[in-house]
Amino acid sequence: MNIRVRFFGSGNAFADGGRSHACIHLTAPGVSLLLDCGGSALPAIRKASAEDTIDAIAVSHLHGDHFGGIPYLVIQQHFAGRDRPLSIAGPRELAARLRGAEQSLYPDFFGKSGQPRFDVPVVTLGPNDVALGGAQVSALPVRHIAASDPHGIRVRIGGTLIAYSGDATWSEHLARVADGADLFICEATQWDLEDPSHISYRTLMSKRSELRCKRIVLTHLGANTLAHLREIEVEYAVDGAELEL
Ligand SMILES: [Zn+2]
Repeated sequence: MNIRVRFFGSGNAFADGGRSHACIHLTAPGVSLLLDCGGSALPAIRKASAEDTIDAIAVSHLHGDHFGGIPYLVIQQHFAGRDRPLSIAGPRELAARLRGAEQSLYPDFFGKSGQPRFDVPVVTLGPNDVALGGAQVSALPVRHIAASDPHGIRVRIGGTLIAYSGDATWSEHLARVADGADLFICEATQWDLEDPSHISYRTLMSKRSELRCKRIVLTHLGANTLAHLREIEVEYAVDGAELEL
């Protein structure tokens, strides 16, 4: 099966290097799923003319650079005349946090009955696969800011497994997220700094033998990592890049 992975946003929370917030689009026949939809995702999604094709969004954790773009996409799709559901899945508090964001940003829009004009069902992701956007999706806890309920996401499309770190520092949990993946999309906010919330490129490479995954692509690149791009020995994302599996 041909699976296409498009990096709409490969930046960190501070948009270092002018990169958009986290947003990765997975597509295959019958599959259209976003991994995260950060605050600045909508311009990047629209640049790729993908806004009408997204069936679902899997959210890794409750930080704005990973889910803050959802209300904007919902409003855009409402006025574009969408008439099919946009399914959203992620941490346990996702529905409540989305309601809070909607009421802060556009209480006039989200306060009106019949808006949005399509269903936006929200489900909680956990260790067992759920059907989402045509794929089978699960989530495993990782180590990041605990209040954001951080998870890595695993997506099965046919016989192919795509794993995504979300935001995570090194722990055995991250190895579990990557286990058996054909593609592991991993954050690399830091280059060599020890950070209790984010993994560094150096640490990731030192743990490479513990990661049972075929291929790694780095994303969520911070300024420290961007300063060392030429030294990176695995693939890394840029906004607008795409690859096929
Ligand atoms: Zn985060």
